[in-house]
Amino acid sequence: MTDPADLEFSPDVMRAMGEAVLARAVAHVASAASQPACGRVDALDEYRAMRAPAPEQPAALEPLLAQLFDRWIPQSFTTISPGYLAYIPGGGLFPAALADLIADTANRFTGIWLAAPALVQLEANVLDWFRDWMQFPETTRGLLTTGGSMANFNAIVAARERQLGPDIRRGVLYASNQVHHSVLKSAKLAGIMPDRVRPIPVDEAFRMRTAELADAVARDRAAGLTPFMVVSTAGTTNTGAVDPLDAIADFCADERLWHHVDGAYGAFFHACPELRPLLAGLPRADSLTLDPHKGLFLPYGTGALLVRDGAALRAAHEADAPYLPPMPDASEFYDPSQHGPELSRGFPGLRVWLCVQLLGAARLRAAIAEKRALAVEAARRIAAIPGIVLDAPPQLSLFAFHLTWPGASPDAENAATRSLLARVTARGRVMLTGCTAAGRFLGRVCVLSFRTRHAQIDACVQDLAEESAAILREAAHPH
Ligand SMILES: *Cc1c(COP(=O)(O)O)cnc(C)c1O
Repeated sequence: MTDPADLEFSPDVMRAMGEAVLARAVAHVASAASQPACGRVDALDEYRAMRAPAPEQPAALEPLLAQLFDRWIPQSFTTISPGYLAYIPGGGLFPAALADLIADTANRFTGIWLAAPALVQLEANVLDWFRDWMQFPETTRGLLTTGGSMANFNAIVAARERQLGPDIRRGVLYASNQVHHSVLKSAKLAGIMPDRVRPIPVDEAFRMRTAELADAVARDRAAGLTPFMVVSTAGTTNTGAVDPLDAIADFCADERLWHHVDGAYGAFFHACPELRPLLAGLPRADSLTLDPHKGLFLPYGTGALLVRDGAALRAAHEADAPYLPPMPDASEFYDPSQHGPELSRGFPGLRVWLCVQLLGAARLRAAIAEKRALAVEAARRIAAIPGIVLDAPPQLSLFAFHLTWPGASPDAENAATRSLLARVTARGRVMLTGCTAAGRFLGRVCVLSFRTRHAQIDACVQDLAEESAAILREAAHPH
């Protein structure tokens, strides 16, 4: 009889299970281009019927894989589709999955340096690579997080601690009214309440107006408050706008404010030297959010933060405990738990490290630059479609537009633009989503998946052209 408390799997069983999973996973990825760019997500009764208690007895793997790959995974936005041009596309480079398998089976403890110094050094190397690509100085320290939201959160905590100390209630944070909502959420989690966050108006290209920023800071100082931080965005989620990073850096230097740049969408474009003018001033930030699971094409689960004065990040998180081994020399070795809120954690460094090792930085840069070029081409062709107006040309690889015709009311335009995105997405070749900005509904195209190539741009342009024409015909001849 089997011993119920023995939870180990034999090498043969592990190999068989691994092969079964690998076969399914590889077949799934290989079919990415033939899956609809958006699966159905409205079978509410099926989702209700899925609620189930934990099984008392072991189940077999194969039927579970069949349910996952044949029924449940397809009911989703197909984020691995080459036609996924919605929101901010993720990636899913395959070596990351292999790295996760290694990390999970080796299961070493990488929260503290001393428990696995060589492995932690690989993670430190990854952060140094990001530091160099972003042209940050040697003093920089960073943190791999689960995503951009947690990177923004840790940036606000470090800035608050450095700038305000314990007197946090007077502190005021500034960001454009296009800032990602994770910044507002993070501010609150960091003790900066909504009444201490100032939304700054934007210009016609959706970039923060620095004159209005200066006015807001002056007003708060006059009222006895303590401005401490400006969050600018290198590529907004709505329209891809890049705030005037250089001018904001100047202002923050004069006013002694912490300048954080949220580059969750856009920062990796700075890795390409020829694109750096698009992000001028980015290397001057006090801290920077990057999202490897967006701009570096990794699977979901990896964000990153860089802090120019690494000591400030460390000061916010440093902690000792009587049961822990001694800390390393902070000036030489990196200790993740001394630079972030977590102790036990996975090993996010390995998935980045293995992807960069197996592809090389040059190919990653070539792919990043290609996404920008594809977006520029798509915007030019889509702007030429009758009835389409480009509201936000691509500053990086994201642009926004709406549909119009003579005599159209704003409400009718909004409804038509929504309908255009839904009809194009229903065709299955590309998935598009919109946003509301400057009081109107905008369609968006964001090119950031490494799988998106010329063929998907052709499909996107053709489907938008045909569906726009159909909508305009219906508007001209209502039944
Ligand atoms: C995606 C995004 C975030 C949030 O990052 P997550 O990885 O989803 O947590 C923050 N800011 C911007 C500009 C983003 O595009």
